Amino acid sequence: MEELLTSNLFVQQVKKLYKVGELLGLDIDTLEALSQPERVIQVKIQIRGSDGKLRTFVGWRSQHNSALGPYKGGVRYSPNVTQEEVIALSMIMTWKNSLLLLPYGGGKGGIRVDPKKLTLKELEDLSRKYIQLIHNYLGSNVDIPAPDINTNPQTMAWFLDEYIKITGEVDFAVFTGKPYELGGIGVRLYSTGLGVATIAREAANKFIGGIEGSRVIIQGFGNVGSFTAKFLSEMGAKIIGVSDIGGGVINENGIDVNKALEVVQRTGSVVNYPEGKKVTNEELLISDCDILIPAAVENVINKFNAPKVKAKLIVEGANGPLTADADDVIKQSGIVVIPDILANAGGVVGSYVEWANNKSGGIISDEEAKKLIIDRMTNAFNTLYDFHKRKFADQDLRTVAMALAVDRVVKAMKARGLL
Ligand code: NAD
Repeated sequence: MEELLTSNLFVQQVKKLYKVGELLGLDIDTLEALSQPERVIQVKIQIRGSDGKLRTFVGWRSQHNSALGPYKGGVRYSPNVTQEEVIALSMIMTWKNSLLLLPYGGGKGGIRVDPKKLTLKELEDLSRKYIQLIHNYLGSNVDIPAPDINTNPQTMAWFLDEYIKITGEVDFAVFTGKPYELGGIGVRLYSTGLGVATIAREAANKFIGGIEGSRVIIQGFGNVGSFTAKFLSEMGAKIIGVSDIGGGVINENGIDVNKALEVVQRTGSVVNYPEGKKVTNEELLISDCDILIPAAVENVINKFNAPKVKAKLIVEGANGPLTADADDVIKQSGIVVIPDILANAGGVVGSYVEWANNKSGGIISDEEAKKLIIDRMTNAFNTLYDFHKRKFADQDLRTVAMALAVDRVVKAMKARGLL
């Protein structure tokens, strides 16, 4: 345990777990059992570069907890990824899957690599080699990886093909987020944004008098941000501000999401949207609005800008956009925060639909899949809202969401004799 306490994200996650443990009355032995991953696999991945030279990378798969089912979580390719980060992210997946009542434990994988510096052939070799080294620990009832940062349906196709070659098992349910032809589902592409928009609508109904006409600002206009914007405007919300890494734009009359997408396609950044006031990301986050959706990167709302946030409701599209310090300030201001483990869980719910469909040999339509995601997200929101009101009204929704998730894992572990 000692050596694990070096990563910020891991330390933060353990701290949060201990806070929730206090609330649930869990003893220290239980908390220790919940923090430790069940297994962490580290592999040395060697490939021949296109120049003929040997290249060595390090990769991991962390299997945090399987009390509720097979491990589930993405694989990221990033030059900064560390073993501790992968462990922390696998722990977050345990809580996210539990909160959404999915039949999964938590897992996460990573390779320390800058994919931009590799050719497509080198990326393929790297991906296949990773699966050669960890395939013994994967399976549709064991551990089911999915895309994450810098991995995509093509990566999953390489993973799947290599897995089939090695095991001889033609099991498409071992990976999710696959291309359509390999059992992927169309909605996976936009399922996180659909989930964020659904949660924003439910939260708006409960806390700010409804989504219709509410003024929304979204930071980040990538996969999560742009689809969230699209679905929210279809629900009748007014998107008054958007941004990406190049900066943002505010327009009180509303931003046309399709036009903004076209601007990004054409010019590379939403900052070039022609109508409205250009703002920096810092200005965008503290601009007046009803709902603020940080959907870009972590730690963007911190103790310095938190006191200036004017939104009534914050819905966390990104993972970890609020620091722990910001959480305290925001709570004092009376702003409601819908935590990431609920708000952005639409992605893993979409993966669940794909997995269940592959497992059953079913052919699900996009409309059915979409309905399943909306229903799951709505039910999870209502469960959290009721539990918060009934039992822990003095706590913030983040703590209560984690309490619900941890409690379910603890019950499963006790029932199985693991605690
Ligand atoms: P993406 O790469 O598609 O888009 C990221 C967007 O954020 C881009 O518009 C980029 O320009 C912008 N951005 C990057 N750095 C920024 C900065 N410093 N300031 C302002 N904007 C910045 O990524 P994504 O898939 O949309 O993921 C966004 C967040 O949502 C991440 O935290 C990710 O972990 C989380 N998330 C994604 C999914 C998913 O299914 N894609 C699921 C759950 C959580």
